Amino acid sequence: MNSNEIDIHKELKKYFGFSQFKGLQEQVIKSILNKENTFVIMPTGGGKSLCYQLPALVQEGTAIVVSPLIALMKNQVDAIRSLSSENGVAHVLNSSLTKTEITQVKKDITSGLTKLLYVAPESLTKEEYVTFLQTVPISFVAIDEAHCISEWGHDFRPEYRNLKHIIKQLGSVPIIGLTATATPKVQEDILKNLDMVDATTYKASFNRPNLYYEVRTKTKNIESDIIRFIKLYKGKSGIIYCLSRKKVEAIAEVLQVNGISAVPYHAGLDAKTRAKHQDMFLMEDVDVVVATIAFGMGIDKPDVRFVIHHDIPKSLESYYQETGRAGRDGGEGHCMAYYSYKDVEKLEKFLSGKPVAEQEIGFALLQEVVAYAETSMSRRKFLLHYFGEEFDNETGEGGDMDDNVRNPKVKVEAQKQVVK
Ligand code: ADP
Ligand code: MG
Repeated sequence: MNSNEIDIHKELKKYFGFSQFKGLQEQVIKSILNKENTFVIMPTGGGKSLCYQLPALVQEGTAIVVSPLIALMKNQVDAIRSLSSENGVAHVLNSSLTKTEITQVKKDITSGLTKLLYVAPESLTKEEYVTFLQTVPISFVAIDEAHCISEWGHDFRPEYRNLKHIIKQLGSVPIIGLTATATPKVQEDILKNLDMVDATTYKASFNRPNLYYEVRTKTKNIESDIIRFIKLYKGKSGIIYCLSRKKVEAIAEVLQVNGISAVPYHAGLDAKTRAKHQDMFLMEDVDVVVATIAFGMGIDKPDVRFVIHHDIPKSLESYYQETGRAGRDGGEGHCMAYYSYKDVEKLEKFLSGKPVAEQEIGFALLQEVVAYAETSMSRRKFLLHYFGEEFDNETGEGGDMDDNVRNPKVKVEAQKQVVK
C-alpha cells in the first residue's frame, strides 16, 4: 500500500476525530507511507505523535516506537487504545511486564493486531526481543525524542547510540526520527547516528509570534522589579524559573509577602507537595509557580501569560522550551530573562566539575546564551538563527515582538566589575 491508496483525511477523522492536519503532518505521513526514511523537527506541541501513529494504524505490520520515558509511553498507549476497540492495538514492551503479559504482547503482534509497539531503547537491546521482532512484519521504526542520540542535545542517552545497530538486524525497515530540538548540530548527529543522511527532512518553523522576548540586566533590585512586573499581570498565570531550590523558596516567599499568590516547585519537595502545587497552578488556585527546571515537562496550561527567568538557563534550547510554556493559546506571552555575568560564572563553575567532553559542550552552549543576552539584534531573529532558521523582522510574524526591536539601543554589556 502506498499513500495514494489510503485516504489519510478519512483516517484522521476516523481515528483521531480531527478534520485537518496540523502543520507538516500530512507531508510527513505521506513520506512514511511511501517507506522513506523521514526526519521530523517540530516544536513541542506541534503534533509529532500523530505523524507516526496514523501511518502505523493504517498499515500492515507493527510499528516500533522508541521513546525514552516509560510514563510517556504508557500515556500514549492508553490514548491509542481509547481510539480503537482493541486493547492489543498498542502495547508497551519493557522490563516491568510479567511473563504472561509478554506472551500476550507477542501473540497480539504475531496475529497482526498490534499496530504500535512502544519500547524503551534499553529493552530493544535485549536479544530475546530482537530475535522475536525479526520474525514479524515491521512497518517502520519511529524514534521519538531523537535528540537523545546527541551529546549536543539536552537529554543525551547512550542507549540511543545502539539503535542503528539493532534496527539493521530487523531488516530494511524505514526509520522515522522525531525531535523538538532544532539546532543544526543535533540534527546532523541524529542523521549520522541513525545512518539516514538520505532521510527526507520536514522542519516546522520554531517562530512563536505571540511571545515577547525581553532581557533585563540583573541588579540587586531584581525582587522589586519582578514584583512590579507581576502586578501588571494581576490574576494571570505565570512561571518564574530559578537555578537553585533555595532561590525558588526565597522568591516564592517574597512574592507571598507582597500579596502575590505563589507556590514553590522543585525536586526537593516531596511528590505530594509537588503534585499539589502543580494542581493549584493548573486549577488557578494560585497565580505564579516559582520553580526549578523540574517544573514544566508535560505541563500544558494554555494561558500562561509570562515566563520569567530569574537566572539565565544553561542553553538556548532550555530557554526556548521554558519560554515556550507561555502563550500556548496564541494570546500574549511575555518572556523576561534577567542577566548578570555572575550567573554565567556560577554555571561555568558548576560545569567545571563535569567530565571534559561534557564541559566543552556545556561551555559552548552557555556562550550562546551569553551572546543572546548581550546581543543588540532582534532576540527572535537571534533565537531562530540558532535553530537554523532565517527570520526577517520586516516580513516575519512577530517581527517587532522583542525589546531590541522595540527600543533599539547602543550595545549594553553585562555588568562586569572592572577593577582599576
Ligand atoms: P509533540 O509530540 O510534537 O510535542 P503531540 O504529539 O503531543 O506534540 O501533540 C500535541 C497536541 O496536538 C495533542 O494534544 C494532539 O492531540 C494535538 N494534535 C495533533 N495533531 C492534531 C491535529 N491534526 N488537529 C488538532 N490537534 C492535533
Ligand atoms: Mg512528543
